[in-house]
Amino acid sequence: MPAAPAPRRDAAPTPDRRPSANPWKLDLRELGRRAGSMQELDRTVPAPDDWKVELIGVPAGADVHLRLRLESVMEGVLVSGEIEAPLVGSCARCLEPIEDTLTLDVQELYAYEGSTTEATSEEDEVRLVEGDFLDLAPMARDTVVLSLPLSPVCDEDCGGLCVDCGQRIDDLPADHSHEITDPRWAGLAQRFASSSGTPGDDDTTKEN
Ligand SMILES: [Zn+2]
Ligand SMILES: [Zn+2]
Repeated sequence: MPAAPAPRRDAAPTPDRRPSANPWKLDLRELGRRAGSMQELDRTVPAPDDWKVELIGVPAGADVHLRLRLESVMEGVLVSGEIEAPLVGSCARCLEPIEDTLTLDVQELYAYEGSTTEATSEEDEVRLVEGDFLDLAPMARDTVVLSLPLSPVCDEDCGGLCVDCGQRIDDLPADHSHEITDPRWAGLAQRFASSSGTPGDDDTTKEN
């Protein structure tokens, strides 16, 4: 059965999707600058490679889910909603691997350049709309990294590691201990334990 030749598409205009663009940058042209207009954003973007602290972090390239609402306000664009990202790391006490999901609420005003908010704020205090774009990455990174625990634990009650043998205490029996008896004294200790009554102990008074 000869299949009909596929229609040639190279003449068709390519849709304006710009997939190579930074997925953290939002194009605000659709939202516009009329105060009160609103846009919902639900997208999954790859995590950058610097969302980590010493023992825990978001793996580079992992799916970060953004569920955000953009609201055009007088001074700029108010971004609010939720960021969800996977976390991997290791327990600070027992070194067991940890996997978790981080869900964080965000709310941030991106001020327009030249707005009163920009004029009255210190440079590093305010995030700015850059032309028709807004870069979510620095805000998301600050929010995520500041929430990462410096001493993550696999469980609040994690007992850590046994200082003598290095095994996880939670994996060991409750009576786990390392009472070490020097083998040279072991026999002697046993003999003392079995001999009840020592010579000077024999002071039973006779009753008659
Ligand atoms: Zn642990
Ligand atoms: Zn031990």
